[in-house]
Amino acid sequence: MKICVLPGDGIGPEIMAEAVRVLKALDLKIEMEEALLGGCAVDATGSPYPDATQKLALAADAVLLGAVGGPQWDNNPREQRPERGLLGIRKQLGLFANLRPAILYPELANASTLKPEVVAGLDILIVRELTGDIYFGQPRGIEVREVDGQKQRFGFNTMHYTESEIRRILRVAFEAARKRSRKVCSVDKMNVLECTQLWRDVATETGKEYPDVELSHMLVDNAAMQLVKNPKQFDVMVTGNMFGDILSDEASMLTGSIGMLPSASLDADNKGLYEPSHGSAPDIAGKGVANPLATILSVAMMLRYTFANEAAAGRVEGAVKKVLGQGFRTGDIFEPGMKKVGTREMGDAVLAAL
Ligand code: NAD
Repeated sequence: MKICVLPGDGIGPEIMAEAVRVLKALDLKIEMEEALLGGCAVDATGSPYPDATQKLALAADAVLLGAVGGPQWDNNPREQRPERGLLGIRKQLGLFANLRPAILYPELANASTLKPEVVAGLDILIVRELTGDIYFGQPRGIEVREVDGQKQRFGFNTMHYTESEIRRILRVAFEAARKRSRKVCSVDKMNVLECTQLWRDVATETGKEYPDVELSHMLVDNAAMQLVKNPKQFDVMVTGNMFGDILSDEASMLTGSIGMLPSASLDADNKGLYEPSHGSAPDIAGKGVANPLATILSVAMMLRYTFANEAAAGRVEGAVKKVLGQGFRTGDIFEPGMKKVGTREMGDAVLAAL
């Protein structure tokens, strides 16, 4: 297993150090090589995604990323912004499937703004298509046109999907559901948008390939409501790029603890980029207080989705559950009565639990 490790900026190197320690403790046959991405890469080479990093990322089976960005690069020319590096690597690796679990451990139920009985034990996975839809569709633009008898500015975008684009993301969702509770809810807006009528048709067809997985359909407006009303009804939700953008942020906030949420972006061969859902947290960088658990849980996702090693993934997730049960908390998830620890101590606790 070849892993390209990209610690990035801000708290990235601190949280990545703990994730790497966990990986090493698993005693798997792993080759890890570190490279620069983001602001640190701009400072060292002038490019947020330097050639050496590209070479390593392309050759690796998986990429593990901390986070990129920070105020010191905010006024750089667009080509030299850290986020450019992130978009560059996602595009180059052809990562079309974004997997974002929203898990609320019962021990952290008070972190959510929703009532504990609604969210405690929540465990859903949002599968979002990442390279198509209205975000990339042509034609698009703002033009001056003659409309309703007057010249005025006219803004337009185009939503489109091919059936093969829909089928491949649906397959990712069905395969993921097979590793979970075997339920897929496909989200669309077929009552208004033809493009998503096709989505529903292809979802139904693809579902026939997976008779062991229960498929349901939901309109996106209802899905947004149901996520707040009764989120535990869902197992895997799959949807297009725009609906997924919105629903995955909504779902992650059900948990209230950004420091706990991993994510995966996969290509057609399950090569993946794994990263925490949060950013580089410049406000706490260098203080040793960042929560490393989202990055450690990203390691678990990498073991599950790229390396198909469910046992090792389960070990890591079990260790995280155990340290929460033991009362260890970084500042972002701290509650009175718990044991407040820093980044390194949290890593130590996970290693001990392993
Ligand atoms: P952020 O996620 O970095 O921080 C939001 C808040 O959550 C901050 O108060 C931060 O201290 C806290 N936080 C985040 N992760 C934490 C952790 N692991 N432990 C404890 N607390 C944590 O979002 P932001 O402040 O909007 O962005 C900061 C920088 O990160 C920006 O430059 C932004 O562009 C970048 N960013 C990068 C990514 C990425 O690399 N994928 C994603 C989002 C934002």
